[in-house]
Amino acid sequence: MTTLMQELKTRPVQVSDGAWGTALQNRGLEMGACPEMWNLEHPEEIRAIAQAYRDAGAQLLTTNTFGGTRFKLGMRGLEARVAEINRSAAAIARDVMGPEAHILGSIGPSGHMLLMGDITEEELYSGFTEQARALEEGGADVAVVETMSAIDEASIAVRAVRENTRMEIICSFTYDHLPGGEYRTMMGVSPAEMAPALLQAGADIIGTNCTLGPKEMVGVVQELRAAAPDTPLLASPNAGRPTRTDEGEDIFPEAPESMAETAPALLDAGVNILGGCCGTTDAHIRAIAKAVAEYRGASA
Ligand SMILES: [Zn+2]
Repeated sequence: MTTLMQELKTRPVQVSDGAWGTALQNRGLEMGACPEMWNLEHPEEIRAIAQAYRDAGAQLLTTNTFGGTRFKLGMRGLEARVAEINRSAAAIARDVMGPEAHILGSIGPSGHMLLMGDITEEELYSGFTEQARALEEGGADVAVVETMSAIDEASIAVRAVRENTRMEIICSFTYDHLPGGEYRTMMGVSPAEMAPALLQAGADIIGTNCTLGPKEMVGVVQELRAAAPDTPLLASPNAGRPTRTDEGEDIFPEAPESMAETAPALLDAGVNILGGCCGTTDAHIRAIAKAVAEYRGASA
C-alpha cells in the first residue's frame, strides 16, 4: 500500500468523510448513548454509514472511535472493551473501503486536563497507546488525533501513536474565532504555536476540525500554512455554527451546496485533505467532492 504521505505528492487534494455522530443520530442513536458501542452492537449501521461516505466520494474514511479511549469509555464502565471496540470499528472501515484506501483511526481528547492535575502524562500515554494499537490491529493505517485543544495532551497522543504503531499521524486542533479576529483553542493555543509543536512531536500532517464552519475556517488554514509551509494540511469544518432547539438538538445551518462553495477558498489556503465535522452528512461530502474535482480540473 502507498502511504498517505507518498500519495499526497501525486494527488495533493483528497476528500475525507463527514460527521459520524450526526449520521448515528439519524440512524437512531439515542442522545447520551455510547456511539462507539455501535461498532459492536450495530455493525450493519456503521457499515452503511461508511458505505454512504464512500459512495459520496470520500477517498479517506475515519473510524467511529472518537470517544474510544479508556478515558471516555471508562466513564460508561466500558474500559475493558477498548481493544474490541476500536478493532471492530477499524475492521468495518477497512472492509468497506478496500485494501488500498487509507483508514483514519480517530483518537479524540481524553476529557482530562494535565493542567488540572486530574491525570498524569503516563496515564494519557498508556491510554492513547492502547487505542492506537487496537486501531492498527483492526486495519487503520493512519491515526487522526483530532479536536484537540492542548499541546501537551495532543503531543502525548502523537508520541503514543508514533512509538507504538506504524501508523502515519494527522493531528488536528479545534479553534474558535475570537472577537478580535484571532484564532485560539479553548486552551489559548494559536495555529502558529500548534504547528511546530505537533510536527516536533511526530505528526506527519496537521490540521483543524470542528467548532467553525467552512468560511471561518479559511483563516485558520492560512495561519497553519504560514507556520508549516511544507506540511500537508487537513480541514474538516462543521456545517456552520448550530442553533440549539428546546429539545437540545443542534441544527446546523450550512446546506451541502453552500458548504461546497467555500471549498475553493479552503484549497487556495492550502488544504490537502478536506472533509466535514459536526452536522455534515454524505450529501455534504458529495457536494464537497464535486467542488474538489472541479477545482482540480480548473487548476490542472
Ligand atoms: Zn465536530
